[in-house]
Amino acid sequence: MCDARVVGFQRDGSKIVLATKQGDVIADYAVNCCGLQSDRMSKMTGHKAEAKILPFRGEFYELKPESQHLCRNLIYPVPDPSFPFLGVHFTRMIDGGIECGPNAVLAFAREGYRKTDINIADLAETLTYSRFLRMAANYWRVGAGEMWRSISKAAFVKALQRLMPDIRSEHIVPTRAGVRAQAISPAGDMVDDFVIQASDNVINVNNAPSPAATSALNIGNIIVDKLDEQLG
Ligand SMILES: Cc1cc2nc3c(=O)[nH]c(=O)nc-3n(C[C@H](O)[C@H](O)[C@H](O)COP(=O)(O)OP(=O)(O)OC[C@H]3O[C@@H](n4cnc5c(N)ncnc54)[C@H](O)[C@@H]3O)c2cc1C
Repeated sequence: MCDARVVGFQRDGSKIVLATKQGDVIADYAVNCCGLQSDRMSKMTGHKAEAKILPFRGEFYELKPESQHLCRNLIYPVPDPSFPFLGVHFTRMIDGGIECGPNAVLAFAREGYRKTDINIADLAETLTYSRFLRMAANYWRVGAGEMWRSISKAAFVKALQRLMPDIRSEHIVPTRAGVRAQAISPAGDMVDDFVIQASDNVINVNNAPSPAATSALNIGNIIVDKLDEQLG
């Protein structure tokens, strides 16, 4: 069944009963890969999620068609190993466009794809979360820079100019945003590796950060191997 939000989880003997908006699904095993909701789903399955998810929106600009000659390939910075965020970069898309970004700003909703998206429950959960407050205190300067780049196109362009000195404000226009599911460890660190927990007949993918899309087939193999181990 597709497009069915899971809202409940129960065990019935060796079976799993998933309550969804489209009716119940009875299964021998379940794999939770719910991205931004994965920690909540883990909790629903009775597992104590190792990581808690905080949503960070990544906002992008794109090169106007007449400026696309500025970028002929991927242009990426050398990553700073102390942060899971790569920083702005240039990505050639399969449709021919070129994306510039993203920044990384706290989203006020788990699925907060627009600046105006606010979910009071999600926001309250984040702001009352002690590890978020510790992280905000430690990295307030970096966070403030990201927020400034969210409201100031000139600041965003300045960040892009580190990789492409010739780029100017008139070369780019805003485009879609993505929301990154940033996992925070019990110690309060930003987790930058995959976290996949298995027990009985449930697999919880608690953290699948970039490059999880690129590595999707390998991650799928790991999940199948773990299921094999669990189910004998
Ligand atoms: C801006 C941005 C750029 C990125 N760039 C790259 C890149 O260049 N290369 C790369 O490899 N990765 C990139 N990533 C990361 C990549 O997108 C993620 O790592 C990957 O999508 C994670 O996959 P996932 O299956 O865990 O979660 P998702 O892809 O988020 O999928 C989760 C799914 O679970 C569903 N779901 C949630 N709750 C429920 C529920 N209760 N019931 C049923 N379904 C539910 C959602 O609807 C969604 O379909 C990027 C991410 C962002 C935000």
